[in-house]
Amino acid sequence: MGRTDIDPGWVGEQRYAELVHQQLRKLRVDSVVVGAGTRQSVVGEVHVSRSAETLLIASHLDTVPVDNMSIDPFEPRIEHGRLSGRGSCDTKAGMAALMAALERVLARGSLARNLVLVGEADEESSGSTGVRDVLLHLATRKIDWAIATEPTELRMVNAHKGTAWARVEAHGRACHSSEPRRGRNAIVTLARAIGCLSELSDQLEQHAYPGLGPGTLSVGVVAGGQAPNIVPDRAWLLMDRRTLPGDTSASLRGEIEGAFAAQGLMDVELSELRMGKHPLFTAPTHAAALACQRALARCGLNPDPVSVAFATDAGLFAHEGIPSLVLGPGSITQAHTDAEYVEIDQLERTVGIFEALLEGA
Ligand SMILES: [Zn+2]
Repeated sequence: MGRTDIDPGWVGEQRYAELVHQQLRKLRVDSVVVGAGTRQSVVGEVHVSRSAETLLIASHLDTVPVDNMSIDPFEPRIEHGRLSGRGSCDTKAGMAALMAALERVLARGSLARNLVLVGEADEESSGSTGVRDVLLHLATRKIDWAIATEPTELRMVNAHKGTAWARVEAHGRACHSSEPRRGRNAIVTLARAIGCLSELSDQLEQHAYPGLGPGTLSVGVVAGGQAPNIVPDRAWLLMDRRTLPGDTSASLRGEIEGAFAAQGLMDVELSELRMGKHPLFTAPTHAAALACQRALARCGLNPDPVSVAFATDAGLFAHEGIPSLVLGPGSITQAHTDAEYVEIDQLERTVGIFEALLEGA
């Protein structure tokens, strides 16, 4: 999503948000579409009572791109107990299960928790404008806890790392390569900076967060120079940083700049640092985790909490003070693939889990 190289009619979450909005209205659920342009999100609210707990369940509306898929991304197929198509696993199955569960529970009149149902735009790009729009709309509404539906194979995820990326630039002075000492080689400076980052990465490995492991750092792109016979005056790199609870933009900047300064590295600057998804950690003993575990146990599923390597919008809800978890059908190994699918059995079991949660498990 967020593509500018294809017909605007094919991108954006607007139509999906509208579809969920219409379905909620058919169930007589208060619903509103929020957000600007084609990147819209939907929020439905059902209230049982003021004293009841309020649970927010969010399922992102966007998918990763459909380039180079080996199946027709837009033609859902059911075969061998699997539903295939782009977004089938990540994460339309989560929203479908939630809508089905809500319909059944409303028909039985057995809703025991207030529900805020969210379909949010812009999850895959790490921009999370959808969650921000939704939180702005919900304003001061009290939300007790939240679940983000993502492919977790029906396991309750209480912890994942966050994401950040940075650009580091090395500056030098260009000159003819026949007399390299007249210039300052930015690529050599950048190579020394990479050495510092590699040491920093080793240091990060020493500090594991319980249940999450250590933060990580990985240099992913390196570029610079113009020609073999020019001493380069500019080189740069892009790096990925997986973050832990407590990491902030200031702390990441401090550790990277500190690593360069400790080695006396001049002419290197951290020119850009972007925080992406926030990390997630909800104690397994928190009431939200216990409720989720009861629902899983009631459905005959493994209730033990696990952590995952991928980041989700649950981190952002948690960052805003809402204890959050991740739970949904399908496997992350099926998401984002050229033949994405979800097992229908998992989808149906998720309906049961959401029914149990809505009925107060
Ligand atoms: Zn997803």
